Amino acid sequence: MINTQGNSVSRHLYERANRVMPGGVSSPVRAYRSVGGEPFFIAHGEGAHVTTEDGATFLDFVCSWGPLILGHAHPSVVAAISEAAAHGTSFGAPCLRETELAEAICELSPVAEKVRFVNSGTEATFSALRLARAATQRDVMLKFDGCYHGHGDSFLVKAGSGLATFGESSSVGVPSDVSGLTAVLPLDDEDALRAYFQQHGTMTAAVFVEGIPANCGFLPQSSSWWATLRNLTQESGTLLVVDEVITGFRVAAGGFCEREGLEADLVTYGKVIGGGLPVGAYGGSAELMGMISPDGGVYQAGTLSGNPLGMAAGLATLGVMQEQDGWGQLDRLGASWRERLTPLLQRETAAGHPVAMAQDGSIFWLCFGASEAPRSFSAIPDGGAERFGRFFHELLKRGVMIAPSAYEVGFLNLSLTEADLDVAAEAFDAALEASR
Ligand code: PMP
Repeated sequence: MINTQGNSVSRHLYERANRVMPGGVSSPVRAYRSVGGEPFFIAHGEGAHVTTEDGATFLDFVCSWGPLILGHAHPSVVAAISEAAAHGTSFGAPCLRETELAEAICELSPVAEKVRFVNSGTEATFSALRLARAATQRDVMLKFDGCYHGHGDSFLVKAGSGLATFGESSSVGVPSDVSGLTAVLPLDDEDALRAYFQQHGTMTAAVFVEGIPANCGFLPQSSSWWATLRNLTQESGTLLVVDEVITGFRVAAGGFCEREGLEADLVTYGKVIGGGLPVGAYGGSAELMGMISPDGGVYQAGTLSGNPLGMAAGLATLGVMQEQDGWGQLDRLGASWRERLTPLLQRETAAGHPVAMAQDGSIFWLCFGASEAPRSFSAIPDGGAERFGRFFHELLKRGVMIAPSAYEVGFLNLSLTEADLDVAAEAFDAALEASR
């Protein structure tokens, strides 16, 4: 058992971090506020494992929240970054690797004929929104309750009561004039879609939706829901923007849109395409992308966008995935992981402590308190978070790290072995029992 209380080095480092950074972190969920306790400081990662500054090693299902599809410090990625770094980290001028990664993305993506690189998923989505507004000459956007599209002002809008709600921000500091242009609907509700489009369709520039909603649990939508959404957007001249920051180059070579044959108008990418470095991108038809500056009037720029390091990491990652049939392998690992967890969850449910699993290949989520995986935010049972907090710490003690929030998904990576999954399943087994 790992002593997760006596992590004295991390504790000292966290105190130090708190003196100079809000919550001691660069991104809020890292501060463990919803599970209690204090975060570990990671000293290094290798393959499927991370080692803390305290010297504890964990099997890692966070994988930097998705980018590390090959695992930590994959030799091909490290070599590509090192080779690029030795020749200069950023030029603020075109470089070959940029074109190469753009070519790879445009070849794999069914949506992008052209892409623009940015430095995060957040930048990709708010830039795509600007483009959608310009292309449609409309201001309103629609998103779904439980979907996350980064922290741009227009996306930090929460659902209220009623069918479509405009305008209540989920963060202070967002002007109501901005949040008032964003509508929020529940997922998994085709009637709500129809009612919205009947009333607001022709004033709506874009609908943003995650390929598989994976930021508030894991909430795959039915193919009928997708077909309805696509029809309604087409009828009203609204652009369908599929946010593939998580699903892109993960659930299939061409992401969710390719796998499902979904014809999106714009797509946003991040995470996997940067291979662990800060890279995002948005793409669409050559015509739509022709509206981006300098070809068109939609201004969007970036000092470090398309830098050779990020491009090299992305190219190396996609290269390994293609060489090793990474997507096939991850699907097999996912099936194997599901096989191990299913009896454990059945046992918990039979014992009156239900846990459901939602999973798609290398993405999985345990929903505490539910015996069936939900499809919308409001269908997630209240109260599951408390048990999750206990489960999280019980897993840590047993050497397994998952995201410190009941609503975050876990990621499998290509360096995991069947033996790792055995070890993980044993830890999940014991942690489920201990957290009842
Ligand atoms: N879109 C989705 C679907 C995401 O999951 C995320 C991040 N988790 C973002 C956008 C924002 O990406 P970033 O954190 O790189 O800004």
